[in-house]
Parts: sequence; C-alpha cells; structure tokens
Amino acid sequence: MMAPLAGRNSLTPALFLDFDGTLAPIAPRPDEVHLDPHERTLLESLGRLLPVFVISGRAFPDIEGRVPLPALSGLSGDHGAVRRFRDRLTVHPEALRARQALADWGPSVRALAGKVPGALAEIKEFSLSLHYRGVEPENRTGLLSEVERLFHNWGERDRFQIFEGKMVWEIRPLGGVTKEETMDFFLELLAREDGKESGGFFPVMVGDDTTDLAAVNHAVALGGQGFWVGDPPPGLDPGAILLKDSGEVWALLSRLRDDLEKGADIRSLWGAPVRKG
Ligand SMILES: [Mg+2]
Repeated sequence: MMAPLAGRNSLTPALFLDFDGTLAPIAPRPDEVHLDPHERTLLESLGRLLPVFVISGRAFPDIEGRVPLPALSGLSGDHGAVRRFRDRLTVHPEALRARQALADWGPSVRALAGKVPGALAEIKEFSLSLHYRGVEPENRTGLLSEVERLFHNWGERDRFQIFEGKMVWEIRPLGGVTKEETMDFFLELLAREDGKESGGFFPVMVGDDTTDLAAVNHAVALGGQGFWVGDPPPGLDPGAILLKDSGEVWALLSRLRDDLEKGADIRSLWGAPVRKG
C-alpha cells in the first residue's frame, strides 16, 4: 500500500526515470553501469511514497537486474517495447511485429561492429544498438556511413528508424514504441488501479538523451514536470528544469523523498532550482 501523501490535492505525482546517464553516469561499457546500495535504498523509500517507474533503452532482462524491482510500480526496457506493471509483463504489438526482422538483421550489424575496433553491437529482442564510445574519433564517420549503407539496403527499413543517442546508434521500430507512449500506458494503468479518471496522476520525468526528449516534454505538457540531465537539446520545452548530472538527479530524488515524508507540497521542488549558483 502506498502511504497517503499529506496535503496532496486531487493529483498525485508519478515518477518516471531513465537509467543510463540519468540514474547512473555512462560508463565505457554498458555492462559496467550499476546503482550503489544507498541509491537502491533511496529508490526503495521513494517507491513506498509514490509510484516510481524506470524507463530504459536497455533490453528488459538487462535493466531488470540493475534496479530494485520490487520497489518499482513498473519497469520498461527497449525504449518502451517491453513493459512490466506490477507483476504483469506486456510487449508493445509493434515491437512484437519487429522482432523477427531484427533477429534476421542482427548478424549484419554484429559483423559490421566486428570490423571496427572499439565498436560494440548490442542485439536486443526489440531494437539494435551500435555503441561507438570506444571507436577512435577519426573512424566514427566511416562507421556511420557503413551503418547507413547497411540500413538503406535493408528490405525492412520502412518499418524502422535509426536514432542517434549518446555515442550510440539505435535501430528501433516505428509506430508508437516510445518512452512518451509508455508513460501514457503506465499513467492509464495507475489511474485505472486507483479508480480515478485518467489524468489523476501527474508525471515527473527525468531523462538525458534523444529517446527521452519527447517524454520530458510530454510530462510538462500533461501539467507535470520534466527534468533534463546535461546540456539542453534543441526542442526541449522551456518549462523543463535542467540538472547537471546524475549526482544532481540523486540530490533531487533525496529532496523529493524528504518532502514527501514531511507531507510537503513537492511542487516547491520546481520553484527552487536544484542547481546552485
Ligand atoms: Mg539515458
């Protein structure tokens, strides 16, 4: 049972968190990223105070092992393709349709990565990632043209899109498999569970990369709050609040927990900038 939020009005906050670059700094290799014990404890405390969701681009089985799952109301992997609400797991229908095409194409991407020192292909069930953090800067342009050439010659390309993230290219299905759509999906389930009209919860979204931009803007548009970690990208809603790094994200989460435990109105968190100076 969720503790009642003292002093809340008809709207209850729901927290949506990206993982890499938001909760944890980006490491040279994705498998080196993890949360510290005190960070897991903080997420557990927050999970007792409000609905908390982690929405990641990692494959679901990967992200599942990196977060305190029982503390979360929900978890999503592969940029919204796989969603777990409470203990019920679902897959976006568009992602299901894309699975076979990606499985057929994965070996080509892996072969390409194998030819370029430092490149790392991550073949997921519902998306493909090509990480180039380890690639010498002078070899990156060549690698990108190879990826684009491969993509252009792929028979299934009309159903997919290449997204550029932080030191990664992602090939993902088109058609609603996005973090903002996942946020709506979870908000709807929360509202239904609570017997409220849809819109009874307001989203607070924290993210740092291309795949988060529309979700952060969507949270602001829904009357919630968006937080952006790092330099603001073009197109970021001016209502979003900037955080410098994951250290500032944890400072925000810690204040959120303290305010909720005191029964304070968390909207004061928007008023006072988290970043000092
Ligand atoms: Mg991220």
